[in-house]
Amino acid sequence: GGSKTMPHFTMEQVRSLMDQTEKIRSLSIIAHVDHGKTTLADSLISRAGIISAKVAGEARFTHGRKDEQERGVTIKSTGVTLCFEHDEDGHSQPYLVNLIDSPGHVDFSSEVTAALRITDGAIVVVDCIEGCAVQTETVLRQALQERVKPCLFVNKVDRCILEMQMDAEDMYLRFRTAIENVNVIIATYNDASMGDLQVRPEAGNVAFGSGLHGWGFGVEHFAKMLSAKTGGNKSRMMEKLWGDWFYHPKKKLWTNVQHPEDCQEPLQRGFCQYIMNPINQLIRAIVDKDSERYEKMMERLGIVLKGEEKTLTGKQLMKHVMQNWINAGDSLVSMIVNLPSPKVAQRYRVENLYDGPMDDDAAMGIRNCNPQGPLMMYVSKMVPADKSRFFAFGRVFSGTVATGQKVRIQGPHYKPGTKEDLHVKAIQRTVIMMGRGSELIQDVPCGNTVALAGVDQYILKSGTITTLEDAHNFTDMKYSVSPVVK
Ligand code: GDP
Repeated sequence: GGSKTMPHFTMEQVRSLMDQTEKIRSLSIIAHVDHGKTTLADSLISRAGIISAKVAGEARFTHGRKDEQERGVTIKSTGVTLCFEHDEDGHSQPYLVNLIDSPGHVDFSSEVTAALRITDGAIVVVDCIEGCAVQTETVLRQALQERVKPCLFVNKVDRCILEMQMDAEDMYLRFRTAIENVNVIIATYNDASMGDLQVRPEAGNVAFGSGLHGWGFGVEHFAKMLSAKTGGNKSRMMEKLWGDWFYHPKKKLWTNVQHPEDCQEPLQRGFCQYIMNPINQLIRAIVDKDSERYEKMMERLGIVLKGEEKTLTGKQLMKHVMQNWINAGDSLVSMIVNLPSPKVAQRYRVENLYDGPMDDDAAMGIRNCNPQGPLMMYVSKMVPADKSRFFAFGRVFSGTVATGQKVRIQGPHYKPGTKEDLHVKAIQRTVIMMGRGSELIQDVPCGNTVALAGVDQYILKSGTITTLEDAHNFTDMKYSVSPVVK
């Protein structure tokens, strides 16, 4: 959706981004079944840049945004590498995002852990009507156990507006409950190594919206506009757009008293006045086909469309307007950039990931996410490449994996110093998964996901691939529902 032009990236740019570890994010979307994970993943994918195999503008696109079905297939089997541009203080910054699929059903717990292992962040999707549900809790606990940092998307807000006809304050209270329930689960993991894990709208790791209609926002989006208008500070404005902050129009100041003595009416909460009321009124004007109110709202909110909406009415117009104003994909990208990069995450993840001593070469390579270090790659999954062969899909945690490189493939029964479950082979091809298919790539440095051809007869499910003679394996993926309290 949206009429903004998509940025184009070439494979050379993608490869160059792979070297800039601070520009990489690996994440999965986790949710209770039916809370909207798949729909939201599509919003994100449809907002990604177009990657062409060679030069921008050449005919061969690896990413077919029109073909919903094929898109679903690729992400279902592994994940996709996506490129985004994100505006930071007026400068557009490129990011490489690895979106890893994790099954929604609780029967696939081991697969969920396999997916989480190669990510550093997770977008937790919660249906705001149903609230935080059983599988939300199960999968969130798995994520925290793997030291994966969460952010939250409060979904299906369209239902509050259209079906339940809630007012802004009711929605605020509902959202707050969803956030609090997620934070109660997070609070049971007091793992200091990852810093503050609580999700907070004012901290930029909570967004609200409708995956189905393609719109969403974080309070940051509105804080940016308001602070630009008033010349104020954006972070301070973010704080005022959540929680018990009210604007006093007569005194022209912010207060945390809802019923001041000098005011007849209770004051409007900042979140309601500046965000939820406008959204509510705009959507209602469109579905009520009240063109006068619609025009007035559009002008007041400064929404300018390119004219292509003229033929649209009702729900179609609503989606078009909302996607252009507050795009769901953009709101996800704003949260994603706040998740840790591999360089940041591997510092605290190494002790969970690696079985060997924390001061050996493998551990140091992983901890520092060092592309010049020894190769340490974790294979999390075997994915079909064609009729008879499989790719070994996973993440490079240390060093750089390359086509033709001679490596040791260590299976789950490998013990250092022995030859059991060990194969020494050359890698035939290194490949990255993008949208519709896979792209050959000469080499892939640490912090990135990759698929390898030519090693499938030696790996059943998972494994460790290394250039070191004395490396231990990556740890077994243990899974338990009880929290690990340190
Ligand atoms: P998943 O099981 O978490 O992957 O959920 P899906 O993305 O498949 O969505 C489940 C159902 O909820 C589908 O019928 C979607 O159309 C619907 N759905 C998803 N997102 C929204 C939303 O934001 N609003 C509404 N009203 N329905 C949604």
